[in-house]
Amino acid sequence: MIGDTDFLLNAVVMSAKVPDRIASTSDALYMADSPVPSNIDKKILADSDLDYLMRRAAVEKAITRGLEEHNFEVYYQPTYFIDRKTVHGAEALLRLHDSVLGNVFPDEFIPLAEKMGLIDDLDDFVLCEVCRLLKSGIPMQYGLDCINVNLSVVQCMRPGFVERINKIVDSFGVDPKLVNFEITESVAASDYRILSDTIDALKHEGFLFSMDDYGTGYSNMQSIFSLDFDVVKIDKSILWSVNDGKLGGIILENSVRMIKQMKRRILVEGVETLEQAELLNKLGVDYLQGYYFSKPVPKGDFIGHIKKAYEAL
Ligand code: C2E
Ligand code: CA
Ligand code: CA
Repeated sequence: MIGDTDFLLNAVVMSAKVPDRIASTSDALYMADSPVPSNIDKKILADSDLDYLMRRAAVEKAITRGLEEHNFEVYYQPTYFIDRKTVHGAEALLRLHDSVLGNVFPDEFIPLAEKMGLIDDLDDFVLCEVCRLLKSGIPMQYGLDCINVNLSVVQCMRPGFVERINKIVDSFGVDPKLVNFEITESVAASDYRILSDTIDALKHEGFLFSMDDYGTGYSNMQSIFSLDFDVVKIDKSILWSVNDGKLGGIILENSVRMIKQMKRRILVEGVETLEQAELLNKLGVDYLQGYYFSKPVPKGDFIGHIKKAYEAL
């Protein structure tokens, strides 16, 4: 129990051969420190059950290699106004093209980069790339309002964060109001003060903020109220649950109504079909994002996409 919160701890037993699999105490600690993937539900892990450890080690190598060899690339996924014709902006999403592992996706490498203490380098890289694109003036030429950049909440709360962001954006001479930071609210209530001070300081400079992943485990009403978000992004799982039965529709409809009453703009992600887009239009959300419009694509393809959309208006 920490504060008022109960944490349920799961125990698993792992067995591995020494020294074939575990050659040193640091190998054993590494094994203990590696989260067991959620698709493994056994209580006793042995032999090939432990292959995920090798995968983790391989991805960690790929991250280090990626930073040295410039294997990271920023992809862009456009976000649209509810008219389905006008591009509103884009989300920058990181990709890792590794010579050994092929393409590795952020759901896998971001948590590891955080553990390795390399997330700062990745976040800086993404922000610099986005600033470079904004500096070119191309997104604004095709009518875009801003580009969204994901931030790890842990980073936001570190001392010196605000200065670091300002320094990067300043060095490119980019107007802060063109950058919209997405953060997933996942911190304990006691940390609200720091997070909300950080958001206020950056908003004072002109940056915009979106709350990411609304409707997943962590997000809650208090943070929408107490943190000064411009946009709330409703998680794709909420939209997708509409097809699963009546309850999904009720949750979506009432989330939209509530967030609107809180005077926040709403983006729904994971829009894959015209039916979904039409439903969201009826509910009155502001922006849409998803494969229906475009997958995340490399910069060149993204520029081609927004040019075409602009010329079709
Ligand atoms: P997210 O912020 O929730 O990003 C949205 C994810 O949904 C992206 O996955 C995107 O490709 C995917 N997506 C968007 N529309 C659709 C759709 O219509 N259908 C389906 N099936 N998927 C859709 P991606 O690119 O794999 O990113 C995964 C997560 O990794 C992101 O989730 C974000 O939390 C994190 N991430 C990505 N880039 C960065 C980054 O530069 N910095 C940080 N800190 N995190 C990042
Ligand atoms: Ca995001
Ligand atoms: Ca999301």
